[in-house]
Amino acid sequence: MGCAAHARDSITPMHGVNSSLRPFGATIFAEMTRLALAHNAVNLGQGAPDFDGPEFVKEAAIRAIKDGRGQYARMTGIPELNAAIAERFEKTTGISIVAETQTVVTCGCTEAIVDAMLGLLERGDEVILFEPYYDSYPAAIAMAGGVAKVVTLHAPAFRIDEEALRSAITPKTKMILVNTPHNPSGHMLDAQERRLLAEVANEHDLIVLSDEVYEELFFARPHVSLALEEGLRERTIVLSSLGKSFSFTGWKVGWAIGPAALVAAVRAAHQFTTFCAPTPLQVAAAAALRAPDAYFTEFRADYQRKRDLLANGLRSSGLEPIIPEGSYFILADHSKFEFDDDFAFCRFLVEKVGVAAIPPGAFYANKSHARTLARFAFCKRDETLHAAIERMHHLNEKSAQARSPVKSAVERR
Ligand code: GLN
Repeated sequence: MGCAAHARDSITPMHGVNSSLRPFGATIFAEMTRLALAHNAVNLGQGAPDFDGPEFVKEAAIRAIKDGRGQYARMTGIPELNAAIAERFEKTTGISIVAETQTVVTCGCTEAIVDAMLGLLERGDEVILFEPYYDSYPAAIAMAGGVAKVVTLHAPAFRIDEEALRSAITPKTKMILVNTPHNPSGHMLDAQERRLLAEVANEHDLIVLSDEVYEELFFARPHVSLALEEGLRERTIVLSSLGKSFSFTGWKVGWAIGPAALVAAVRAAHQFTTFCAPTPLQVAAAAALRAPDAYFTEFRADYQRKRDLLANGLRSSGLEPIIPEGSYFILADHSKFEFDDDFAFCRFLVEKVGVAAIPPGAFYANKSHARTLARFAFCKRDETLHAAIERMHHLNEKSAQARSPVKSAVERR
């Protein structure tokens, strides 16, 4: 009794959290969503659509549930989904793979990232991590006992600097983690960057983990999988998921594709992390991946329109959007409004303007690089985007008030 009371007293928010995870605290997505709700803000923060995915995919899931597909799936994925993943990959890349040994289905791409780290890294192995990075990457590396070596991609181009990449490589480097199209910048690796990655990976015998979840969201030019680069196919694991391409981020169906030996390592961890992804959703994912070409074309056109709508809105509010080549995010520069940093600006935006964005400092080890930026998601209904833009038209006057509240109160009289 006394002991239990003592244990309760000593519990702090991070009490008992494993030391490798303690530095990461709570994710910025949970925090900004909480603030958006508290301030009744239009939420352009977390990258989650506020509309539903296609009806035919939902129908397939419902049918699977009604048909009694309620038990564990095969550990590596239900055969029809592994086959559909291989078919879609062949269709988009021209690379033919053996579904049974070269694919594995996971609970979202986030699980596949953790599984790849757990399955491939030895304690102390180094992973090249480009910042800004999706916030789960460094945590996944840490959970596996790896060490992240951060290489900065600089705004506004966010291209890989050869010198910076080469100088981050050491004898302990095991893997390079890349994301194209890139969250949060929307940059897509170009031919020169893909060549550089192939050269460096081959020179140092590195594995490449390529997160391509935004593969269907490209605007300027088609997405090119890293697996297509000569010299990379044999050493690259490509990750993707249903969430972004079919607007079902909550279904958590993702997958890894790669050489059988690398996929075997991902499977080795997957069997003990989640064992399998939800069966009926895998059935529906197989149906989704076999969608007609028109689905993907319309999906992209719709997103390009949303991107332009938001970019124009941001610009007319006085922000400077960096137009993304892909993904459903826009980084915008807010220097004109003279806030101390990205966190101060995003806090002001959600509290005083009523629009939630993500402070990109959450995606940097060197947070000062993010100081003048904010990330806005455009995976939202047109009316949501219009509502956010409408509110942001008052950005100028509200930021003047926020900077000098006394003066503006006097001016109002
Ligand atoms: N990938 C989404 C984003 O970047 C969010 C995922 C999450 O909330 N964990 O906004």
